Amino acid sequence: MSINLVTLLYLLASVCFIQALKGLSNPRSARAGNAFGIAGMIVAVCTTMSLIFKQAQDLGSDLQTGFSLLLAALVVGGTIGAILARRVEMTKMPELVAAMHSLIGLAAVCIAYAVVSEPQAFGLASESMPKGFLPFGNRIELVIGTFVGAITFSGSVIAFGKLSGKYKFRLFQGAPVVYPGQHLTNLILALVMLGFGAMFYLTQEWTSFLIMTAIAFVLGVLIIIPIGGADMPVVVSMLNSYSGWAAAGIGFSLNNAMLIIAGSLVGSSGAILSYIMCKAMNRSFISVILGGFGAEAGSAADGGSKEQRPVKSGSADDATFMLSNAESVVIVPGYGLAVARAQHALKELTDKLVEQGVQVRYAIHPVAGRMPGHMNVLLAEAEVPYDLVYEMDDINNEFGSTDIVLVLGANDVVNPAAKTDPKSPIAGMPIIEAYKARTVIVNKRSMASGYAGLENELFHMDKTMMVFGDAKKVIEDMVKSVSGSVH
Ligand code: NDP
Repeated sequence: MSINLVTLLYLLASVCFIQALKGLSNPRSARAGNAFGIAGMIVAVCTTMSLIFKQAQDLGSDLQTGFSLLLAALVVGGTIGAILARRVEMTKMPELVAAMHSLIGLAAVCIAYAVVSEPQAFGLASESMPKGFLPFGNRIELVIGTFVGAITFSGSVIAFGKLSGKYKFRLFQGAPVVYPGQHLTNLILALVMLGFGAMFYLTQEWTSFLIMTAIAFVLGVLIIIPIGGADMPVVVSMLNSYSGWAAAGIGFSLNNAMLIIAGSLVGSSGAILSYIMCKAMNRSFISVILGGFGAEAGSAADGGSKEQRPVKSGSADDATFMLSNAESVVIVPGYGLAVARAQHALKELTDKLVEQGVQVRYAIHPVAGRMPGHMNVLLAEAEVPYDLVYEMDDINNEFGSTDIVLVLGANDVVNPAAKTDPKSPIAGMPIIEAYKARTVIVNKRSMASGYAGLENELFHMDKTMMVFGDAKKVIEDMVKSVSGSVH
């Protein structure tokens, strides 16, 4: 395959990736976006394989063994990916994404080590240079690719643990791990790491490269452990961005334009997403990039006060009666709705209420659920019309004139503490202002806290009625009784 054809095919794949990103920015075009992404990846992988085949042929390498190894890697990796994608539940996606980011980081480190040990195998050392000599330009790329990759790897492992919530290990707990001098320690470590990187640049010595990598692994852990509770969405998108930059750095080392373009697209789209999330959660972008922006959140995930406080509770029938007699209803979906997989039942309930003349709308918080866009995807799956779905900023000033807000499996995103308690770990985070509605109906299974581990005053307000139970069961009961209720 000629180099011109390779460039053309890489260009085609890049256009597909850009179209994929464009498509994925809106639920209506997301399927087309996915198709573009798949097509781009097929073109990129096939072109790269042909390129490797050609280079190996030119070098007179053992083609059969090389190709068999490549195919074996593709089959093993592809099979694991396909099984994971089929099995993973929607609510476990964030952990899976964090795990994937960690693999990209680790791959970047492994490739960098291969390049440093045998530069000539990657076509980086010319005949005129001493054997094993790495050109200075490549050393910079390798240093950056390696430390970004190492930070991405260990940071993503910690994020994976925190998001899964399954492990007892202290560093994997949702609560932030904070200690005195944390920022200073991170800063000193980062400077020492860069110092060893500079030493490698000047001397091409293994020891400095190894120490730099080890510090980067430690730094990845230290950057993520102080982040807890509700701030995790920003971490996920930040690590997404880091993984892209790590891939782009390695693309330079391997002289592979496709990797540079794809890495940069992931890196920059992740950075834009982080910025959007920061704005949505009222956090500083710079402190997120540098890590530790949740460090002051000392009381996060402490479960708030454990004293039993009274709440008003009712049945699904009571809720149906109230909803059927309302003029305007806003539904606030949250993580619990996804856990219960109640989106189809909810669509049915909405249809029935609309048939009875009730105005029904949905309010989506940007960090509701466990991944960006989680609730939009969930509602799209149930074919809820897009014109009923409102982003938080577009509906927040309408709650004062709303009869009923129906909160389904949401907690942190409607917690008034973000506005009323400056000491709260979620202080300053914009919320869906459900508490302003005339009546609030909340469905969840118990009085347990949400992801940030906080008490929620909304549940104790006079205007609030709790309907306890699994969201799917409760909504199905509501659907059954809605036709019989009076309007
Ligand atoms: P929360 O995690 O705050 O609350 C979810 C609530 O759902 C829980 O209180 C739980 O209460 C209830 N619940 C769980 N299962 C069920 C069920 N089967 N039926 C009914 N209720 C159920 O969710 P929110 O969506 O309000 O907020 C998202 C949180 O996750 C935020 O803190 C956000 O920062 C964080 N996060 C978001 C990410 C993102 O990208 N969107 C990524 C990582 C974290 P109970 O157990 O009593 O039923």
